[in-house]
Amino acid sequence: MKMRICKLCKEQAEKSFKGKPHENLVKVDEPRIFKGQSPRNYEEQDYQCLTCQSKFTHSTNKNDVGWTLWQG
Ligand SMILES: [Zn+2]
Repeated sequence: MKMRICKLCKEQAEKSFKGKPHENLVKVDEPRIFKGQSPRNYEEQDYQCLTCQSKFTHSTNKNDVGWTLWQG
């Protein structure tokens, strides 16, 4: 059965990389640090929603989509 995405996650998916995680998103694992083209390193952090279990990856690379939603 497919979980329905909650309203906060729907909004989260449209935020830029500067957007803060919504109140029910918790960090999963440690951030992954990437060595970008000097001097711009960036990092990725996984999050999961406590309400609807949706998973996101947040990237601080401004060339990426800020918040990537992983459909279960
Ligand atoms: Zn959610």
